[in-house]
Amino acid sequence: MSAPVCIIGTGYVGMACSLGLAELGWPVHGYDISPERIDRLRRGIPPYREPGIEESLRKHIDEGRIHFFDDIHAAASGARIVIVAVGTPARDDGSADLSALRAAIDQLATVAFANWPTIVVRSTVPPGTSDKLAALVEQWADLIYAPEFLREGSAVSDFLNPDRLVIGCEQPSAAVAYVNLLERLQKPVVFTSRCNAELIKSCSNAFLALKISFANEVANMCDTLGATSDDVLRGIGYDQRIGSEFLRPGIGFGGPCFEKDVKSITHVADQHGLGKELFAAMLRVNDAQPFRLIDILAYEMRSLAGATVGIWGLAFKAGTDDIRDSLALRIVDELGARGVRMVVFDPAVRVAPLPPGSRMVTSALEATQADALVVLTEWPEFARIDPLSFARNLRRGIVVDGRNVLDSERVAAAGLTYRGVGRAPRRVPQTTALTPAVEV
Ligand code: NAD
Repeated sequence: MSAPVCIIGTGYVGMACSLGLAELGWPVHGYDISPERIDRLRRGIPPYREPGIEESLRKHIDEGRIHFFDDIHAAASGARIVIVAVGTPARDDGSADLSALRAAIDQLATVAFANWPTIVVRSTVPPGTSDKLAALVEQWADLIYAPEFLREGSAVSDFLNPDRLVIGCEQPSAAVAYVNLLERLQKPVVFTSRCNAELIKSCSNAFLALKISFANEVANMCDTLGATSDDVLRGIGYDQRIGSEFLRPGIGFGGPCFEKDVKSITHVADQHGLGKELFAAMLRVNDAQPFRLIDILAYEMRSLAGATVGIWGLAFKAGTDDIRDSLALRIVDELGARGVRMVVFDPAVRVAPLPPGSRMVTSALEATQADALVVLTEWPEFARIDPLSFARNLRRGIVVDGRNVLDSERVAAAGLTYRGVGRAPRRVPQTTALTPAVEV
């Protein structure tokens, strides 16, 4: 029996690592500072909703491949590899709060390891962080930096099917044990320095966020010019140098990663006297986007105060119940501040902090008992609801689709006013009519 891999932190990344490694056949010890979380995990209850996570957890607990610990000594002492996946949220000044990571390393320093361990930091950190941590632990461990690129909503399958593995280490020998763990994935490996690996992660997220802000700016231009962002962005995205991924307009990038990672890299640029204009502009565009949607709603409704608005979606993206830094919540807060009452439905989110007078409901149709409907998360099931089934419920007949997830023509055919993001009424024939052979 091989030595267990110890995973510190049982959040989105920690659980994906735990279940992914168990799937690859490795014994896993999960540890978290939250005893309640460990207690639930031992009973097979996952800390959040993800497709397949519950079944996978149950299977690996039953087969004895995963054990959960509330004692770091018991969890880590027999391990040769310790993966650290604790949170690194943004501080008020935009810098990354590394206190949980530092606390985890300090706790590990008290463990009597049976073997010389390799600590693999997988949390997202600013450049320079893991070199400092490596110096702290050099008397008792190697430390490498291996960023994680998974997406919530497909976390375990992303862990098992990454585009690449990035491994930052100063001595290749320190990475051997970790590479062996993931050898079966047969993926390209970028071996590089720890600082380079940190930059690869932060700048990858910054680039994805840039594409979203770019798409939003294009869509806003389309709105003003009477153009259609679906066609414009599709036409841009077919260019293989650009690609269509993340080139979708909406309410902006939310969630626990993009905003904090862009803020963190902006902070680093600032600290080193480097240009931060591009990053700062992305954040400005992103901060403004939710207000654009509110402006559209206010324009269509003439007056917001006293209105009841149905909300479809609170999660920061489809496929997850994560509402951390969700821009949907920011929009809900702002609407509440403007005197709007909301009837809110999200297929995965059951409880959320809502403004006074607003409430969660348990079906999408119940949330249409309102003056207007606003779509804030791109759940595919919303697109499958026939607009005729709720057209009569909407007293003012207004639908604002902040994710361009609904079929605008079907909504309009149901007698409703439809507004999307960059989806002005069409003035020219659809480009699809001209190029059916390459349509996907
Ligand atoms: P999370 O908040 O979901 O989970 C963090 C876990 O760590 C929590 O369960 C917390 O109780 C635990 N923890 C905190 N301090 C601890 C300590 N000292 N010892 C043991 N456990 C401790 O975080 P997450 O979303 O999994 O993100 C973790 C890191 O991975 C962050 O740096 C994040 O930026 C990065 N990341 C996240 C994603 C994502 O999609 N969520 C993707 C890639 C990278």
